[in-house]
Amino acid sequence: MEITAEQMKKSIEKIYKMLDEVSPVNFDCGTLCGEVCCIYDEGDYINQNLALYLLPGEELMYEDSDCFDLYVMSSKDLDYPHTWQDDVFLVECKNPPHCDRRIRPIQCRTFPLIPHLSKNSRLHLIFDENEFPYECPLITDNIKLNEDFIKVTYNVWKILIRDPVVYDLVAFDSRRRENKRKGYKIII
Ligand code: SF4
Ligand code: SF4
Repeated sequence: MEITAEQMKKSIEKIYKMLDEVSPVNFDCGTLCGEVCCIYDEGDYINQNLALYLLPGEELMYEDSDCFDLYVMSSKDLDYPHTWQDDVFLVECKNPPHCDRRIRPIQCRTFPLIPHLSKNSRLHLIFDENEFPYECPLITDNIKLNEDFIKVTYNVWKILIRDPVVYDLVAFDSRRRENKRKGYKIII
């Protein structure tokens, strides 16, 4: 049975709500680094011009937002698994680090945890400093993340990878990460 846009939006709203209940730490970690993950702009990695990749259905949250520009790319122009046939939506924050936090993307809500699938298809959450060019003090200073944040983020990714294209994307990134052999830290 085909999933309607309405059902898809409801499921993203549910995920945003789950993540709204938790936070990586009990203080504003932006004070540690000047919110570098929102505003980093050196070299060829320019956050202010860089768009955040959305997962399927998230684009439905941004249709009338003044804080974000929504645009679309063909998956064929991106380094995505071949199973991903649909277009990929991206948002650009217009005024980082300020945004409408109620609709910030999953990518921001679950940072600095990244999903990883082991070779036997087990889902993990990891820290991977090779994924971004700045230092996140939560990782470099070994700051303990809230258990409920780790748990909810894990449950959210469990839900998200039920979608075969999301599963394929996470598996694709995981195989590539292992091939690079640069190392990452498993959190759960
Ligand atoms: S997640 Fe890391 S990089 Fe982003 S604001 Fe918090 S401490 Fe800074
Ligand atoms: S959406 Fe918000 S939290 Fe995410 S990078 Fe942009 S300004 Fe930062």
